[in-house]
Amino acid sequence: MIIEGFRRTGTTRDRADVVVIGTGAGGGTLAAYLAERGADVVMVEKGGFFRAEDFSQHERDGMADFNGRRGADSTVDGSILYSYAEAVGGTTVHYWGDSIRAPEDRVAEWRQRHGIEWMTPDVLAPHYQAIEAELGIHVAEERLFNENNRLVRDGCEKLGWEGHAVPTARIDCIACGWTQFGCAYNRKTSQLITTIPRVSKRGGRIYSDARAERLIVENGRAVGVEGAFVDRQSHEEVGRFRIDARHVVVAGGALGTADFLLRNLDDATVGRRLYINPSYNVWADFGREIDNATGIPCAYVVHEWRGVRRDPGGGYDGGGYIMLCNQQQPGSTAALLGHAGPEHTERMSRWHQLASVLSVIDEVHPGRVFLGDDGIRRTSYRVQGEDALKAVDYLRNAARIFLAAGAREVWIPDVYGTTVRNDREIDALITLRSVQPNAQICLGTHLLGTAPVGSDPADSFAGPTGEAHRVPGLWVADGAAVPGSVSVDPSLMIMAMARQVAGYVERAG
Ligand SMILES: Cc1cc2nc3c(=O)[nH]c(=O)nc-3n(C[C@H](O)[C@H](O)[C@H](O)COP(=O)(O)OP(=O)(O)OC[C@H]3O[C@@H](n4cnc5c(N)ncnc54)[C@H](O)[C@@H]3O)c2cc1C
Repeated sequence: MIIEGFRRTGTTRDRADVVVIGTGAGGGTLAAYLAERGADVVMVEKGGFFRAEDFSQHERDGMADFNGRRGADSTVDGSILYSYAEAVGGTTVHYWGDSIRAPEDRVAEWRQRHGIEWMTPDVLAPHYQAIEAELGIHVAEERLFNENNRLVRDGCEKLGWEGHAVPTARIDCIACGWTQFGCAYNRKTSQLITTIPRVSKRGGRIYSDARAERLIVENGRAVGVEGAFVDRQSHEEVGRFRIDARHVVVAGGALGTADFLLRNLDDATVGRRLYINPSYNVWADFGREIDNATGIPCAYVVHEWRGVRRDPGGGYDGGGYIMLCNQQQPGSTAALLGHAGPEHTERMSRWHQLASVLSVIDEVHPGRVFLGDDGIRRTSYRVQGEDALKAVDYLRNAARIFLAAGAREVWIPDVYGTTVRNDREIDALITLRSVQPNAQICLGTHLLGTAPVGSDPADSFAGPTGEAHRVPGLWVADGAAVPGSVSVDPSLMIMAMARQVAGYVERAG
């Protein structure tokens, strides 16, 4: 049952076996797993509850209704812009549905480095299979490719680079192109239409507009959560709630989970690492109309450069990222082009001629989440060291793909207005400049690692089971729990981990 908190004044009290904070990829998956195994589950979600008919297919409405901090969240220096959703269904209401299994080399690395013994392909496989079946994940069929996707594939094929059609979470998609602003046809299988209804069906209560604020700890054990019902527009408190439970699962996303834990616990492992997979858009003008608005945003992924390549001396020699086909509606393009005045107008007049990709940089230097003196959650992040080299390498290779596919010119969104028309300009223009904070427009949409699992209590917030090292009965099961960059889109990994953690919660009774 969905209970819209903004309609409730006074104090609501509820009791459950498990209370879950957050209804996104991690929270939804864990809650449905437990509810279907007989647990009484309550979920609290600070964002609103939206149905298909609420998704207007206008960027401005999606950003205002459910984008976290109305799309204006950034690092303290403004050098990274974040995008995430606050709504029943979490960021999966926004997400594109790319559902790629974590590469086995990354899983093996985490097992060794973080002592997560269960993290083996054999343990993960049944989780992946269950999630893929539940969400209808399948390799994107040709009819979902728009011209942008076809051009990127074409460029890769001409260069002999590895890429493939993306496994995507949608059933009978009509390819309208509005995935990112909420699916108006209930075809993208976000948590909103998959796990959340399953929790409801088993008697679970999902409180929307319900911001968890205080962790209730008794005799050293987590026993519940308190918080505020908030007005959907102003976020001002209209009522209070208290949920008592045997287990408290935090799944507020890497920023939301860190925010909640920093307010409630004095634990130095929280927020110490923030992974974002730095994402730089690159545009290419093909001098003719390109359909980059319908289909699905990303039907094709470039895998050629996922691994880092090293020269004989061990120095960086390319790679360390994947590229996703990118879909930019006019509003987002206007915001992210990095130009102003007549030049901006001129570039936007060519919007219908643009193709685009973005990077998922597999970073090794994470950022940080902390509370400011005013109590507001803040982040710092710097693309630096080898990660900056990866970014430059990506910009060059993205330009190469588009030039191979026949682009007239390629635009790097930076303060220099960098435009590339041929191989000579790739070398002459881009290699001269490294990426620098606030010089290139950079986004973070894959937010991970702020309350990681691991065997070492000095290095991780929770043990490999997801239960906090220092507070029994408190668990993490979202992107915050993932110990580092997945090196591909993370949602399938987050869901697989949430299912594994759900099994441990179930066994804990
Ligand atoms: C535009 C976009 C496209 C994306 N596309 C893809 C893709 O194609 N494939 C992919 O793998 N990944 C994609 N991602 C990333 C993916 O959606 C996220 O990694 C994933 O949803 C994170 O899951 P989560 O459970 O950590 O958090 P979320 O899904 O963000 O859920 C957290 C929820 O917790 C709530 N919350 C936070 N704090 C509180 C609190 N104190 N009280 C109550 N509720 C709280 C939040 O409001 C939110 O709804 C995309 C992201 C964006 C922004």
